[in-house]
Amino acid sequence: MAAWLTTHEDITERARNERRIAFLAQHDLLTGVANRALFSETLEDAAGRLGGHGERFSVLMLDLDKFKHVNDTLGHPAGDQLLIEVAKRLKSAIRETDVLARLGGDEFAIIQKNVDLQNEEAIALSLRIIGLLEQPFDLNGHRVGIGTSIGIAFAPEHGADAETLLKKADLALYAAKSGGRNDFRLFEPELTAAADIQKSMEAEFREAILEGQFELHYQPIVDVRTRAIRNMEAFVRWHHPSRGWLGPDQFLPLAESTGLVVPLGEWILQQACMDAAAWPPHVGIAVNVSAVQFRKENLFDVVLCALVDSGLSPERLELEMADVSLLERNQACLQTMRQLRNIGISIALDNCGAGYSSGSYLTGFPFDKIKIDRAFTQGFANRRDCAAVIASVLALARGLDIATVAKGVETSEQLEALSAAGIDFAQGYLIGRPLAHADLDFEAAAPSARSVA
Ligand code: GH3
Ligand code: MG
Repeated sequence: MAAWLTTHEDITERARNERRIAFLAQHDLLTGVANRALFSETLEDAAGRLGGHGERFSVLMLDLDKFKHVNDTLGHPAGDQLLIEVAKRLKSAIRETDVLARLGGDEFAIIQKNVDLQNEEAIALSLRIIGLLEQPFDLNGHRVGIGTSIGIAFAPEHGADAETLLKKADLALYAAKSGGRNDFRLFEPELTAAADIQKSMEAEFREAILEGQFELHYQPIVDVRTRAIRNMEAFVRWHHPSRGWLGPDQFLPLAESTGLVVPLGEWILQQACMDAAAWPPHVGIAVNVSAVQFRKENLFDVVLCALVDSGLSPERLELEMADVSLLERNQACLQTMRQLRNIGISIALDNCGAGYSSGSYLTGFPFDKIKIDRAFTQGFANRRDCAAVIASVLALARGLDIATVAKGVETSEQLEALSAAGIDFAQGYLIGRPLAHADLDFEAAAPSARSVA
């Protein structure tokens, strides 16, 4: 009797374990929803039945917006908690017959089945989800707001196999992200064409780095009082084999979105420091650094390497950051900034006044210098709003003991007015256009800079 009982318990125990293992293999440990493996299997099944009398269905791919910010500010466990809450809300938005999965990270997917009006039902579900996830979350007493972007593909209209459907939903998702986020997009054939162009640009860009198709040009920044050159700002240009010279605006957004700005940025730092080492010792070099490079966490080593290889003293190097809003007070970025400043490098906030409330960034990050956006410089003399922005930036800078630079100075009147207002440095066509390294002439530059006085 006793022996029989043991065996019976063994069997139920084993059955329970097997069920548990089977569940774990197909579900996401954190949220308990289906994982990528189960999702793919279900999608393949549904697609496989399309040929016979299978039903139409829709695939929705979701990716939370700015989720990293939650990890960065509240910590990874809070991010995990948010993912669990998101999964709960998603479950409440779908029908019994729909399948919800977490594909990884902050990416979820839904197969919407039993659709009658495919278009309308997918859009209605997307709007429901966007509405639900827009509501603030409570993470241990912290109110957190996020958003979600959604890409939608229809079976069989957009594809009859799992891979094609996922790829097309993903392209639509990417379009929703680049269109501004917290929105949905239906797949359309133009998206494939756009992705192909992007892919070939990306390939060309990789090759351009290897083949040395980039060149740096340098624009002077002068001391408003003495008119002596203080710094040269490095601008990168791409000598494209078929399209000719391309300015930074034409390729930096692509470089940032693909992460290729990291190898390009390393090259720029190396080259700029190398060039600057040959200039008169009182002239420094200003190099633009993107938030993507700051996030990489090896920026300090990259900068150090450039300084060591070139022999440039750190006091002559200034890093300019334009997109500080992306750093979002990330502790690791702040730490890197402090490390850089500790060895004597200065850090400038670029394009101040444009697009975000500069005040909080000025007090939140240790900047040495503020560069005022050219739109404000040019409106300073005749637009009250521009004058007001500059006045408040100047007041803040003075209070925090931060130097100021006006960008885009094109006329002597602008320079006079800015000088009277107390700006420390100026940059713009009036003072000098960007020039290739070989064309720089510091002997000649000094009188022409003086001539604007
Ligand atoms: P975007 O708006 O472009 O989607 O940016 P994002 O900040 O949401 O970042 P993205 O979707 O590119 O990356 C998702 C991040 O989620 C990357 C990683 O740091 C984080 N992550 C991935 N898996 C987990 C996890 O299991 N838990 C937590 N807390 N974070 C995760
Ligand atoms: Mg995301």
